[in-house]
Amino acid sequence: MLVISGPSGVGKSTVCKRLLADPRVRFSVSATTRSPRPGEVDGRDYHFVTREWFRERISKGAFIEHAEVYGNMYGTLREPMEAALQRGETFLLEIDVQGALQLLALGEPGIYVFIEPPDFDVLRQRLAGRKTETPEVLERRLKKAEDEWRERFKYNYRVVNDDLERCVAEIRQIAGLDQAAAPRHNV
Ligand code: ADP
Ligand code: 5GP
Repeated sequence: MLVISGPSGVGKSTVCKRLLADPRVRFSVSATTRSPRPGEVDGRDYHFVTREWFRERISKGAFIEHAEVYGNMYGTLREPMEAALQRGETFLLEIDVQGALQLLALGEPGIYVFIEPPDFDVLRQRLAGRKTETPEVLERRLKKAEDEWRERFKYNYRVVNDDLERCVAEIRQIAGLDQAAAPRHNV
């Protein structure tokens, strides 16, 4: 299990898209109660679900972690994770800091990576550049980012997303994805 976490706007989705170019990596499709954004596909980006569906799954213990993020519920489903790990895949979670801390507290085995911005001005520029937040929401996310920043030492690894290529290469190395696949012997 490879957990990619860090403040909003730091580049988690961008980094994860790059990691997913490797066929050995499987994305954890989270469930969420938020509405899809243009271009997002149900079942690929998220399972877009109702609050009732979400609450019922919480009571059934279907999530390994869940959290409320900016007014919406998000959670990682246990069943697809177990199936992917059985197949020997790297199961990639892109989750917020609250969720990663829950998994760490549970002692869930995995590689926990906190993505750091080069500095907070860059984080502000990236969030503003994405043009998906109103100015109020942007300020709220930056404030939260400062709190999340204090939790970074709880992770196994901290990787600065300055240059995207370098950041992705460092994570691939940490996750052991750079090791060549075992040679095949034809008989
Ligand atoms: P998150 O998923 O953490 O909220 P995103 O992946 O949406 O963040 O990235 C936020 C913005 O920053 C996007 O516009 C993205 O293109 C940009 N971005 C991501 N990584 C880099 C980088 N290394 N250098 C410059 N811009 C980046
Ligand atoms: P967005 O709505 O922008 O896709 O995601 C908002 C935040 O929720 C991001 O920080 C993202 O990493 C986080 N997130 C997505 N899925 C999950 C999940 O299953 N669990 C938790 N805890 N956070 C999630």
